[in-house]
Amino acid sequence: MATHTTRMLIIGSGPAGLSAAIYGARAGMQPIVVQGLQPGGQLTITTDVENYPGFRDVIQGPWLMQEMQAQAEHVGTRMLWDTITEVDLSGSPFRAIGDSGDIYEGDTLVIATGAQAKWLGVPGEQELSGKGVSACATCDGFFYRGKKVVVIGGGNTAVEEALYLTNHSQDVTLIHRRDSLRAEKILQDRLLAHPNIKVLWNKAVDHFVGGDTGLTGVALKDTVTGESSVAPTDGAFVAIGHAPSTELFKGKLEVDAGGYLVVQPGTPKTAIAGVFACGDVMDHTYRQAVTAAGTGCMAALDAERFLAEKDFQAAKG
Ligand code: FAD
Ligand code: NAP
Repeated sequence: MATHTTRMLIIGSGPAGLSAAIYGARAGMQPIVVQGLQPGGQLTITTDVENYPGFRDVIQGPWLMQEMQAQAEHVGTRMLWDTITEVDLSGSPFRAIGDSGDIYEGDTLVIATGAQAKWLGVPGEQELSGKGVSACATCDGFFYRGKKVVVIGGGNTAVEEALYLTNHSQDVTLIHRRDSLRAEKILQDRLLAHPNIKVLWNKAVDHFVGGDTGLTGVALKDTVTGESSVAPTDGAFVAIGHAPSTELFKGKLEVDAGGYLVVQPGTPKTAIAGVFACGDVMDHTYRQAVTAAGTGCMAALDAERFLAEKDFQAAKG
């Protein structure tokens, strides 16, 4: 069991945590990143990424995250492989305890624990993930240009994903398990009026159909009649919500109705001075690698300012 101390403790090693680390290290804060169960974050479970700026050609998600980590280490970040199981935010230094038993102490704390898309958990979903099954239309919609796609869900996310997909596909179907949507009325109106979107009501996904060559369809069960059917499709977007990784902070930091950490608008500042949140864990709207990286940068800049002010006050006595 060891105690690790730093000026900036970062929990999470996705684009938000690593961007905070790059800025923090270059500002001399000798950051520690505790990586968690998914080193590199969500992009390590995808293949093609072509919307992260700086790369003319399609790049691979795992490769991008390896490069980001190498850059963070190159400028002086310590990457530690552990998962935080408990935090004490009662005062600086903020303390975190790892699964390993190690203790981490940071004069500032950057929370970058991300969010995970919820999945249906039906047969074929995992096997065909990245081969036709996706949870992010903004990320993968482009690959279905001119093809048939379906979106599963009935909330704002599902409706927005369906509307977004009409930029690429003329044949979009929303599949929902009930006969009415949960999404806001204005989004429903846009969806129902769109000539390239149709809705299959009262249909639950039984399993995904496909093989080595990818997805070919979605097997459905009518939730009223029990009747089975198959909707042929090239792409299926599961849009039944996201779960932010905020369990560690429940009762310690404010979360919104969706479980996301609440920050002061336009900043990564939480209600506790010196504790910052960035990336998907505080952002239910954009949830992109580049926005996570952007808020990670903001968290590091604000952490640096927080410490400079604290040091200045201490020097004044
Ligand atoms: P995450 O990437 O979710 O990283 C969270 C980190 O926190 C992980 O390292 C995890 O191990 C760590 N962590 C969590 N809990 C703990 C703990 N208790 N202790 C220690 N560490 C912890 N975005 C794009 O811009 N373009 C794309 O093409 C794209 N494609 C995607 C494809 C898929 C399949 C998915 C799922 C997402 C995709 N996204 C894409 C979205 C993008 O991946 C996320 O917006 C981005 O990764 C969020 O970054 P983050 O750093 O906030 O969190
Ligand atoms: P959500 O509102 O919780 O909706 C999830 C949808 O998925 C519901 O329609 C639900 O069906 C369906 N669903 C859940 N589990 C399912 C399953 N196992 N099988 C089939 N369908 C399932 O989630 P969200 O749409 O991601 O929105 C989350 C929050 O973010 C909301 O507060 C939302 O308002 C907000 N948000 C806002 C915007 C915006 O303001 N533009 C955009 C996106 C999200 P039922 O309806 O039958 O329960």
